[in-house]
Amino acid sequence: MRRKGLATMAVQTVAGNTTSVSAENPHEAAFGPAVALSCRECGTRYPLSPVFACQECFGPLEVAYDLPLGDPEGLRKRIEAGPANIWRYAPLLPVPADVTEKQNLNPGWTKLVRADNLARELGITGGLYVKDDSGNPTHSFKDRVVAIALEAARTFGLTTLSCSSTGNLAGAVGAAAARAGFRSCVFIPHDLEEGKVVMAAVYGGELVAIEGSYDDVNRFCSELIGDPIGEGWGFVNVNLRPYYGEGSKTLAYEIAEQLGWRLPDNLVIPIASGSQLTKIDKGLQELIRLGLVEDKPYTIYGAQAEGCSPVSAAFKAGHDVVRPVKPDTIAKSLAIGNPADGPYVLDIVRRTGGAVEDVDDTQVVDAIKLLARTEGIFAETAGGVTVGVLRKLIETGLLDPAAETVVLNTGDGLKTLDAVSPTTGPTATIRPTVAAFREAGLA
Ligand SMILES: *Cc1c(COP(=O)(O)O)cnc(C)c1O
Ligand SMILES: [Zn+2]
Repeated sequence: MRRKGLATMAVQTVAGNTTSVSAENPHEAAFGPAVALSCRECGTRYPLSPVFACQECFGPLEVAYDLPLGDPEGLRKRIEAGPANIWRYAPLLPVPADVTEKQNLNPGWTKLVRADNLARELGITGGLYVKDDSGNPTHSFKDRVVAIALEAARTFGLTTLSCSSTGNLAGAVGAAAARAGFRSCVFIPHDLEEGKVVMAAVYGGELVAIEGSYDDVNRFCSELIGDPIGEGWGFVNVNLRPYYGEGSKTLAYEIAEQLGWRLPDNLVIPIASGSQLTKIDKGLQELIRLGLVEDKPYTIYGAQAEGCSPVSAAFKAGHDVVRPVKPDTIAKSLAIGNPADGPYVLDIVRRTGGAVEDVDDTQVVDAIKLLARTEGIFAETAGGVTVGVLRKLIETGLLDPAAETVVLNTGDGLKTLDAVSPTTGPTATIRPTVAAFREAGLA
């Protein structure tokens, strides 16, 4: 894990003193309320810089804040007066106050859809909502995380934007880089869906398909960062990972605000690396600390595809560590066999009284069609995984149908047409005559 940039950088360890961190931090104003990077394992603090692993223990680094506590009413008003995108939450993100002036795709503020038809079908009586992130600029939740990482890359003077991707991230990076005037060079496994490949390539950056799985792609990117070639590169989910992760918090903020500044009882969230799930929990905790919502218990459930379910397997076995697997599922955007945030997901799910469950590919397709048929929302395979797991959690009694639940749809079905096209098509193909229509038995 140790890399050249990390080893040669002068790192100050600051014991809980935020003012001296700021004094050591050359980019202070560019990161708004963020004051440092902090190790999730041992708490060691580092200046805000493009590093991702602790020098003391190799634990992952995350952004630490001096949050605007003390005036929840004022903060709520300020947020509500903000733009209809993630930058309304700038006071809680590692970005400058004037961030919307910059060239950015400005994602977020996607619909929270009340899903009464799906609720009825699933037997949910406590209220059900779909947080539909297919409405983002490149049609997945990844625009949120890229938006933050891009601003960090700009501040650090990085000129090439890159990533290891299961598909959606490559498209989000390509689009964001195109708009912001960065060079982009993104890496994907060679066997992705056509929709994802085209969406990653169309923005004009370089797209490199790697002969291997996502985990091979990710390992390759870590090597590239340590090589002189990687000088000046911002890998949004590797050396910019602490900033990237913060983008997912905006899902928690939006859900709470769209519910009228309150928390739901249950959230069902898909797991690839597990970053999104852990950061949604971080966002919910911040909302409580800030007094923006009433402090109440909530339960977080994780969703995986059976063909790549290392976190679900660890949860069911009662393990704290996640044993890597070799993915084999149609839910390719979730096909990370060695999820970096797996152990933290297990902590959160257990702390909140939730569960991690998985569904097979047939159930994924059924769930995509169920959501489409009941609510008019066409989800990608990741959405099928999440809705499929919601159904399974109710059937097995692990999720209380009398409680209020929010389920995430993180991507658009048009990107994964292959999943449903073998079992979806015209009801009939006929000559253009009324007689033929009658003969088809559809009149
Ligand atoms: C990346 C992705 C996720 C979740 O990713 P994490 O690595 O767990 O943060 C979920 N859904 C879709 C569609 C994705 O592309
Ligand atoms: Zn550490």
